[in-house]
Amino acid sequence: MPTLVMKFGGTSVATLDRIKRAAKRVGVEVARGYDVIVIVSAMSGKTNELVGWVEEVSPMCDAREYDAIVSSGENVTAGLMALTLQEMEIPARSWQGWQVPLLTTSAHSAARINEIPTDNLNAKFAEGMRVAVVAGFQGISPEGRITTLGRGGSDTTAVAFAAAFGAERCDIYTDVDGVYTTDPRIEDKARKLDKIAFEEMLELASLGAKVLQTRSVELAMRYKVKLRVLSSFDEQDENSGTLVCAEEEIVEKNVVAGVASQRDEAKMTLVSVADRPGIAAAIFVPLSDAGVNVDMIVQNISEDGRTDMTFSCPVEQVSRAEKAMAEAKDSGEINFHDLIADTDVAKVSVVGIGMRSHTGVAAKMFDVLSKEGINIKVITTSEIKISVLVDRKYMELAVQALHDAFELHKAS
Ligand code: ADP
Ligand code: ASP
Ligand code: MG
Repeated sequence: MPTLVMKFGGTSVATLDRIKRAAKRVGVEVARGYDVIVIVSAMSGKTNELVGWVEEVSPMCDAREYDAIVSSGENVTAGLMALTLQEMEIPARSWQGWQVPLLTTSAHSAARINEIPTDNLNAKFAEGMRVAVVAGFQGISPEGRITTLGRGGSDTTAVAFAAAFGAERCDIYTDVDGVYTTDPRIEDKARKLDKIAFEEMLELASLGAKVLQTRSVELAMRYKVKLRVLSSFDEQDENSGTLVCAEEEIVEKNVVAGVASQRDEAKMTLVSVADRPGIAAAIFVPLSDAGVNVDMIVQNISEDGRTDMTFSCPVEQVSRAEKAMAEAKDSGEINFHDLIADTDVAKVSVVGIGMRSHTGVAAKMFDVLSKEGINIKVITTSEIKISVLVDRKYMELAVQALHDAFELHKAS
């Protein structure tokens, strides 16, 4: 029988009623003749609650215990979903990550999937099981410890299962009915896209569009998984939602496909560091060793052999970054006059494959922001995206102004 992967996010399994509704959707696909692998998230808010408990007990916690705890929300929903399906007379059972087993690296809280052996689930499908409900977000390390795949990781679990089992499609059911030109919570004129190219989705996801975890898009692109995002609340048919697909499959193309934003960024400036060979390594190696995810980097003009170095990182990593820089200074590896942390910034980005062949997008973006009186603090670009750091209080305004100026509410 053909296989389908259906993933239900936190809001889609937030209550027993919603689990029932999701189970009915699964029942429809079973009736159509599919063997279904259902991937579930924890009930919405649950993972945050678990993370909060961990932080309260042990702020610098053992990462292995963090994973053991924060992965547990998914175990509950997997069991409840399996029971709900059984009540509907659909042969189903639940699987935790380790039982499959979903084999990962040992990078706790950010583990990568190494392999998903298919034998266990396939043996059960051969015996007549129609639905395998798998707890998303979690796996097992080579050391036999529970791992998690990073926040939003159930999307990645879903795509990885679709690739491993050669599923006909991977449907991601969530609280919006597809991928929009920007976060519909920020801009109500945001337009749902019927299709979006893998490369664009990858950039949007990594620049803050939470609707899919970045790694899930990477995997779908690599393994050519047919990936669809759709709503678990409305009735859906074959053509609902947004298909994430190869660029060639898309007819309608705007130069800019979407705008993404990331609220909790920080801008750090090392004032007056020696401008000498090896200085970047002397700064960024200790930051990386300390687990700081540096994003944008700008080195200013050098004067009298000294320069300012600015970088951005998630705001919750600021104290880690400060500690790493203070230690590097104490050990004499770097010398700087001051470290200024601006913890009130956000990143706003425009993304589009069309930028490869169209010039002027950056100029227009800067012009729009300047007309709104929004100061740009740092800029970075790549072939298909432009990102700026702005004061956090202007984030929504920047997103709305850019969405308007690039006319994203209109199809091309
Ligand atoms: P789930 O719990 O189902 O995994 P998430 O909260 O992780 O859902 O992702 C869905 C949310 O992503 C939406 O509610 C929406 O606010 C946000 N989002 C951000 N950018 C976009 C976008 N471009 N298109 C659709 N949703 C987006
Ligand atoms: N429950 C996890 C989280 O909130 C994983 C997920 O929902 O994808 O991050
Ligand atoms: Mg999510």
